[in-house]
Amino acid sequence: MGLRRSLYKTPAQLRTMVEPGLITAASLDAVRALVAPGVTTEELDAAASAVIRGRGAESNFMLVRGYRHTTCISINDQVVHGIPGSRVLEPGDIVSIDSGAQFQGWNGDSAITVVVPGGDPAVATARQRLSDVTEGSLWAGIAALASARRVGEIGDAVQSSIEAQGSYGILRDYVGHGIGRAMHEGPTVFNYRVPDLGPEVKPGLCLAIEPMVTGGTDVTFVEDDDWTVSTVDGSDGAHWEHSVAVHESGIWVLTSPDGGASALAPFGVTPVPIA
Ligand code: MG
Ligand code: MG
Repeated sequence: MGLRRSLYKTPAQLRTMVEPGLITAASLDAVRALVAPGVTTEELDAAASAVIRGRGAESNFMLVRGYRHTTCISINDQVVHGIPGSRVLEPGDIVSIDSGAQFQGWNGDSAITVVVPGGDPAVATARQRLSDVTEGSLWAGIAALASARRVGEIGDAVQSSIEAQGSYGILRDYVGHGIGRAMHEGPTVFNYRVPDLGPEVKPGLCLAIEPMVTGGTDVTFVEDDDWTVSTVDGSDGAHWEHSVAVHESGIWVLTSPDGGASALAPFGVTPVPIA
């Protein structure tokens, strides 16, 4: 039932995706500023919620059936889909926060990973490196999108970026997605090489690219809360995500205030604002 949505938005539709992207980014900025030992994950969630509601938007995570929080917050061996609650951040924890806003019917989706200050320096350094490798692979994937002919070229770039940094696990069971009127739309955006390169990259394509990477295995399980995805070997996880639009003049990272300019510069890619 329902209308079959095109994978490719009109220029007017792309313009409506700018604001939910910026609200999503602002919600994560608020969370990042609060991350410290002793803070609970529900306090982080409340900060994201306040920003999203304060800007006249709503949490699109709450529109997902059965979910009652604004963010997913995943700590250490949890990779994605952790539920905010009474858990207290400890020094050296690696914390992934995933947030999304819906504004005037259009969606943004983004995630960051932060290492809580303090703790064992060796552990904290390894966790920061895992986060950096994951974030780097996200930007490599976004940079690839700028000149890609098919969506599958993103996963190739993400995987190559991670493999160049050492031995890491790339989750196979969780992937990126199209985004627009729904937070989750087609096409699937793999974080690894696949034989079928998928649909064409053309103006109007909007994708949420989101590598999920571990310091060990790529094998995960869902915890008893029916949401949290954790590694079976207890290795740490990291998750970075941006929503990105392809338009007539280039690409623009919707969930980054500068459109991704600073992070894409090393790749020789200059994002272009949506006119
Ligand atoms: Mg997300
Ligand atoms: Mg997503």
